[in-house]
Amino acid sequence: MKETALTGEPDGARAGKTRGEPQPDHVVATPGHDSPFRFERQRNELRFRVLRLALRTWITPQYVRLRLEGMDLAGFDSRGADDHIRLFFPSTEIGPSEVDGFRNSPSRDITPLSWDAEEGWLDVELTIHPGAGVASPWAADAPIGSLVGQGGPRGSKVMIGRPEAWFLAGDETAVPAIRRFLADAGADATGMVLVETEDAQHEIPLAAPKGVTVEYVHRDGVAAGLALSARLDRITAAERLAGTVIGFVAAESSVVGPARALLLDRWALRAEAVTARGYWKRGVARYDEAH
Ligand SMILES: Cc1cc2nc3c(=O)[nH]c(=O)nc-3n(C[C@H](O)[C@H](O)[C@H](O)COP(=O)(O)OP(=O)(O)OC[C@H]3O[C@@H](n4cnc5c(N)ncnc54)[C@H](O)[C@@H]3O)c2cc1C
Repeated sequence: MKETALTGEPDGARAGKTRGEPQPDHVVATPGHDSPFRFERQRNELRFRVLRLALRTWITPQYVRLRLEGMDLAGFDSRGADDHIRLFFPSTEIGPSEVDGFRNSPSRDITPLSWDAEEGWLDVELTIHPGAGVASPWAADAPIGSLVGQGGPRGSKVMIGRPEAWFLAGDETAVPAIRRFLADAGADATGMVLVETEDAQHEIPLAAPKGVTVEYVHRDGVAAGLALSARLDRITAAERLAGTVIGFVAAESSVVGPARALLLDRWALRAEAVTARGYWKRGVARYDEAH
């Protein structure tokens, strides 16, 4: 079985056999100024797929990797590190040909972590949170062999070139995107990663280049987002990473303000280089549908 640098294995291969340079006719350019990197928006062909849960691997007591399989994955690709797909979770058992049944089922946004479209597998990682919902209980308990619908990614924000430094932060929901950014960064990359987890027991191992520090910020029982926000608030202008920096922060939605204050105000990164996004909101189900 093939694994990739994304999940900490030594082979160093990149996600997705079908990755490559973006096709020019799919791309809308974002101005790059004099930066060594820029983003291009790529629209993807939309296909709906039905996949089978093949493997569940617990990484921490509340964080799980799922392998989804299906020859339907032929042609699947995702060229942006923070791309998302939609997974559709039927509440009753339905057959693989009942595509409308899957399409009408509750769905949630999830990051495609790694895949091999030719071999027909796609790995995702989910946090098992206490808020019930549909994605989290399915990730924890669905019997191996269960079917799930999959759509997207509808579009990708493709990085062209490389930043001089990486600032990546988030909670468990952002770990798959952070893994993908780190896999793209290259062995000589420098930067800083902050990951909010409940406590030391729930820290999710990350494979990072030597020049990138990885720091875990613990909630220790306080509400999600507060510990990471406080850590972001403590980072001063003087601590700005040198050079042209990419900033990516995704977590509970209250983190967005502190992330923007750091990256746009104190560090004065250009807006195109910064993503600060709520991946979920405390007390709100299906938050991803509206944002
Ligand atoms: C672009 C994007 C990419 C994402 N990628 C991933 C990913 O790869 N892996 C992943 O695990 N999540 C990811 N998420 C977040 C995920 O979509 C949400 O956490 C989603 O709400 C989970 O759906 P659910 O059915 O489990 O809970 P919902 O039915 O949406 O919510 C039920 C309750 O649980 C709470 N809740 C939701 N998420 C969390 C959480 N993480 N911690 C604590 N309480 C929560 C809600 O506030 C609500 O009260 C991503 C979101 C976006 C926007």
